[in-house]
Amino acid sequence: MNYKIALIRGDGIGPEVVGEAVKVLEAVGQKFGHSFTYEEVLLGGCATDAVGKSYPDGTAEKCRACDAVLLGAVGGPKWGSDKPAEQRPETALLAIRKDLGLYANLRPAVLRPAMADACPLKKETAEKGIDLMMVRELTGGIYFGKRDRYQTEDRGEEATDLMAYSEQEIERIGRRAFELARLRRNKVSSVDKANVLETSRLWREIVHRVHDADYADVELEDLLVDNTAMQLINRPADFDVVVTENMFGDILSDEAAQITGSLGMLASASLGDGVALYEPSHGSAPDIAGRGIANPLAQILSVEMMLRYSFGMGEAADDIRRAVTEVLDAGWRTGDIKDAETPADKVAGTAKMGDLVVEHL
Ligand code: NAD
Repeated sequence: MNYKIALIRGDGIGPEVVGEAVKVLEAVGQKFGHSFTYEEVLLGGCATDAVGKSYPDGTAEKCRACDAVLLGAVGGPKWGSDKPAEQRPETALLAIRKDLGLYANLRPAVLRPAMADACPLKKETAEKGIDLMMVRELTGGIYFGKRDRYQTEDRGEEATDLMAYSEQEIERIGRRAFELARLRRNKVSSVDKANVLETSRLWREIVHRVHDADYADVELEDLLVDNTAMQLINRPADFDVVVTENMFGDILSDEAAQITGSLGMLASASLGDGVALYEPSHGSAPDIAGRGIANPLAQILSVEMMLRYSFGMGEAADDIRRAVTEVLDAGWRTGDIKDAETPADKVAGTAKMGDLVVEHL
């Protein structure tokens, strides 16, 4: 089979880590008898420099003509908040997610035994391991609601952000979560704030309706968001799939990332009903860009997710996961995940880390 991939290298360390992901794709293609072709797509600060806009016309069409989108990262101080919106990289990110209808953001948080020392939690908690999948609603809620700022008569200036959720938005993300759970350990934790928010009460009602009608075989628990923030630290091993609305998911997925040790290891997928987008959870890391020291594993593990969820290549995806685990088990570390015990000759740069994964494939 030939798959066409829209390749958005982006800014900062984006091009460096995407280069390693492509190496891995080529190796997987050879091993499993597939081929990949790439459509280079400009997005972010580099697009602003080239054509004056961070989201050039026709970007979404180019992506839709491919089987999947692989994105590095965009952004950097050069295109900061003093620039007009159409030149800012963040504008492009929101626009592409919206135009491709990417309503479900999947962020796995995995703590591998070889990395247990990087986990900031108690040793006995870390030893149980972490393997959870955050499913965050990505195109609704307070980040997309109406905002306002106005002068009141007696309380000075006031601002509002509207949080709205429809039945349809909740149902489709709920279904995604239950489907994923069936491929994993068959449990969903649905996170809300139903003791206070009306949107959360609707969330809970719809999630249960979908569960009872079509996914009664999946274990479902409801958790309040404040309790979830605590339980992620107390008993992370108990979580399988965690599904929640946009803002809660934004915060909880960063917490889950932090307890696994390094941002440089965490992949993500954004899914809709058409072409999906895969990217690392980290940003463009301008502080280390161009030095050949960025950790490419999050980008490589984004390829793992792409093979699994867009191309149905579960075996090849498992193989990438195995290769990454073996490289870490052999003691190899990039600068961001090394510790005092890592010997100097086991510290790899970006390209070396990519080569090691390819060797283990
Ligand atoms: P960041 O994730 O880029 O960096 C945070 C810290 O983690 C930095 O010290 C960085 O060096 C380190 N780091 C990140 N990825 C790493 C890797 N692969 N290997 C080694 N170290 C790594 O977050 P930030 O500094 O808040 O943001 C920098 C820029 O990235 C900003 O312009 C921001 O808007 C943008 N950003 C883009 C995305 C995206 O493209 N999806 C996401 C987040 C931030």
